[in-house]
Amino acid sequence: MQRCDVVVLGAGAAGMMCAATAGQRGRSVVLIDHSLKLAEKIRISGGGRCNFTNLNISPECYLSNNPHFVKSALKQFTQHDFIALMYKHGLSFQEKTLGQLFCDQHSQGVIDLLKTEVDAGGAQWRQGSRIVAVAGHPDGGFVVQTERDDQSESWQCESLVVATGGLSIPQIGATPIGYEIAKQFGLRIVPQAAALVPLTFQAEDLWTELAGVAIEDAIVACGRQQFREAILFTHKGVSGPAILQISSYWQPGESLVIDLLPSVQLADIWPTANREALLSTILAEWLPKRFLQVWLQKYGEIKPLKQYSPKVLQQIADDLHHWEVKPSGTQGYKKAEVTRGGVDTDELQSKTMMARQVPGLFFIGEVVDVTGWLGGYNFQWAWSSGYVAGLHV
Ligand SMILES: Cc1cc2nc3c(=O)[nH]c(=O)nc-3n(C[C@H](O)[C@H](O)[C@H](O)COP(=O)(O)OP(=O)(O)OC[C@H]3O[C@@H](n4cnc5c(N)ncnc54)[C@H](O)[C@@H]3O)c2cc1C
Repeated sequence: MQRCDVVVLGAGAAGMMCAATAGQRGRSVVLIDHSLKLAEKIRISGGGRCNFTNLNISPECYLSNNPHFVKSALKQFTQHDFIALMYKHGLSFQEKTLGQLFCDQHSQGVIDLLKTEVDAGGAQWRQGSRIVAVAGHPDGGFVVQTERDDQSESWQCESLVVATGGLSIPQIGATPIGYEIAKQFGLRIVPQAAALVPLTFQAEDLWTELAGVAIEDAIVACGRQQFREAILFTHKGVSGPAILQISSYWQPGESLVIDLLPSVQLADIWPTANREALLSTILAEWLPKRFLQVWLQKYGEIKPLKQYSPKVLQQIADDLHHWEVKPSGTQGYKKAEVTRGGVDTDELQSKTMMARQVPGLFFIGEVVDVTGWLGGYNFQWAWSSGYVAGLHV
């Protein structure tokens, strides 16, 4: 049995941040991960350029049963703190849209930053280690048993940090172990679902001829929540940023209302438009031609504006501004960026991320019932929750 102060399970975004912070405080840390490759999720994030935070981080951009839970951690380690780390490591970045910051040195830059910070704290790495068992120690603290290359190791530690992430992208190593450990220690779990995920349609709602077509500006609403960004038609339904965002709020059985043309009101443009022009030509000012060629077939052959009755024009406007559709489901964890639900925040102290009833046991990052919007919010949660746990382990 080897001893250390802290064992961190999961060397992803949150786990590395926690190991770096704890190690630099002088705590002896062991960082365990079953994957041989480091931080695969960071590597594939943001299309390979890692959208590492957002300038507009705010608690309202997170879903959780307790919407106040994120406040403390986000305040203790802000987006500006991570930006300062980027500068410290000589990394540069660009703001894309809506405050989203992407690393110029690609995801590898962010992975190297974290690895260097972990090494600066002297943590021991255990990549490629399978977690065999976790238990409380009779004298306090925890025991973690692992296996690596058929070699068993046992660690006794004062603090155990679970940073094993959610269920999305099992192909690169996501597992439910974090939820299982939480249950083992009696913590409640909020049911999980795929989030930031493409939505699927029933056959009758599908527009497969439109697969690959993007509408750059659309408003997608589900109940009172709405997002204004691009949407993308797929072979199975719809995707694109506005759909990924709303998917985190959507529950099976609910409908979406989509305004495919929020920048103008069609009722206002009919009176002034060229009545001799084809309807598709008039609308091509705002919508892709390929979309119009397919969508307008609903109303028969595409004709000059003057040949449409006011009733049909009204119908076309209503359908474009108020397309109501009921998704049949999501594309699931294989395509989801994150997992909604997780360790119930009522079970954790928001200032430290420690379990209220189990001293020394911490949960950070995506395994917790905190889900950020698309756009760097999830990494910021990983950095902030990892940092505060690192201060208290
Ligand atoms: C395709 C994609 C793109 C994304 N892009 C962005 C983006 O640009 N911006 C953003 O903010 N968020 C993005 N996200 C979300 C973001 O990657 C996650 O929210 C974040 O990585 C969560 O950090 P974490 O440390 O909690 O979990 P992870 O980073 O997933 O780390 C968990 C670690 O635990 C390890 N682990 C799991 N199970 C076990 C086990 N049984 N034994 C040992 N180790 C285990 C894993 O190998 C992994 O290393 C993206 C997600 C995906 C899937």
